[in-house]
Amino acid sequence: MNSDSFDSMMATVQAFHDKHGFNEAGGEDMIYRVALMAEELGEISACVSKGKGVEELAEECADLLILLMGNAIAADFDLKQAFWEKMGRLSKRAGRMIDGRIRVSDFRQDNG
Ligand SMILES: [Mg+2]
Repeated sequence: MNSDSFDSMMATVQAFHDKHGFNEAGGEDMIYRVALMAEELGEISACVSKGKGVEELAEECADLLILLMGNAIAADFDLKQAFWEKMGRLSKRAGRMIDGRIRVSDFRQDNG
């Protein structure tokens, strides 16, 4: 398996879960995982808002990615399949400038 492949990365995250017994020790509880992801997102925010270096930003992004990949293990879904399905939908959407920034979203008509 290519060490840079998504499957290899997932297998490494699975081994990390197994090593620490996440499944038996609450590490795969999704409410707990949401709290951990919020914590990591806060660390990413601090990197940006406090002007920290790109190395620290990369580390915090990796922390969040590892948690997201672990969610697929904890909640038993195929993250690679979900990624490609979602990217397929996103790639068909138009972008729109909102307050000077590009946004690619569903832009459903809101009649409310
Ligand atoms: Mg972190």
